[in-house]
Amino acid sequence: MPTRLAVLLLAMLPLAASAAEMPIFDAHLHYSHDAWANLPPADAIAILRKAGLRRALVSSSGDDGTQRLFDAAPGLVIPSLRPYRTRGDVATWVRDETVVPFLEERLRAGRYAAMGEFHLYGADADLPVPARMIALAREHKLVLHAHSDVDAIERIYRQDPAARILWAHAGFERPDAVRDMLRKHVNLWCDLAFRTEHGAGGKVPVEWRALMREFPDRFMVGTDTFTPERWHYIVEHAGWSRAWLGDLPPALAERIAWRNGDALFSFWKPAAAP
Ligand SMILES: [Zn+2]
Repeated sequence: MPTRLAVLLLAMLPLAASAAEMPIFDAHLHYSHDAWANLPPADAIAILRKAGLRRALVSSSGDDGTQRLFDAAPGLVIPSLRPYRTRGDVATWVRDETVVPFLEERLRAGRYAAMGEFHLYGADADLPVPARMIALAREHKLVLHAHSDVDAIERIYRQDPAARILWAHAGFERPDAVRDMLRKHVNLWCDLAFRTEHGAGGKVPVEWRALMREFPDRFMVGTDTFTPERWHYIVEHAGWSRAWLGDLPPALAERIAWRNGDALFSFWKPAAAP
C-alpha cells in the first residue's frame, strides 16, 4: 500500500523536523527602550518563536519593555525586574536612592519571577540601595540575576544565605573559578550568555565538559540582547547553542538547553492565582 505509506510518512515529517530542533530556554534577554521603536512586541515575539525558544527570561531598561513582551506572550516570557529605568542607570544605580521606590512601585503593580539583570561588583553589594534590592527579592521570592564578580556574589550570600542567584555570564570567570563557586553554593546557577569559549566551533573543550558534567543542573544559555541590534542575533545564537550542545550527551544537552531553566523557574506561573 505505497499510497497509504506515503501519506503516513508525510504526516510524520513535521514531527521529525520539530524533534530535531532542540527547544531553548534563553535565560538572558533584554528588551530595552531603544529596541521598542524599530522592533514592536509582535515582531520581537516572532523572533523568539523563530529561534525555537521554549521560554525566555526577559528584563529591560525600563521595565515597560518586559511588560509589553509578557503581555504579548505570557507563556513564553518570564519577567524579571531590573533596577534600571534607562540604559544610563547601569553606571549609577548602586548609589541612586530613587531606585528603591521605583522597585517597590513596580513590585506592587506587576508580577515578576526574578530581579535583574543588575551589574554589581565587590563592596558595592553592601551599599544601602543594592542591599534593599536584595531584601526586596527575598521578600518577593525572586531569583537574583546578577552580573557580578565573585566578591559581590559572596556578599549577596552573606546578606541572604538562601538567595537563588543566576550568575550572568558565569561571572566571565574561568571554569576553575566557576567550579569553586558552584561547589560552595548550592543555589547558584550560571548563564553562559555573551561568551563563546565553551562551544567554539561546535565543540565543548575538556575543562568545560568536565564542569558541565559535575554540575549538569546549573548551566543555561542566553543571548544577552544588551543593544537593539542583538535582537537579530537571537535565532543565530539558538542555532549556535544547539551546535555545541550537540557535542554533549543528549540528556546533559537537554538540561542546559532548557530543562535547567524550566526547573529554576518552575515556581513561576504566567497567570496570577484566582
Ligand atoms: Zn545582560
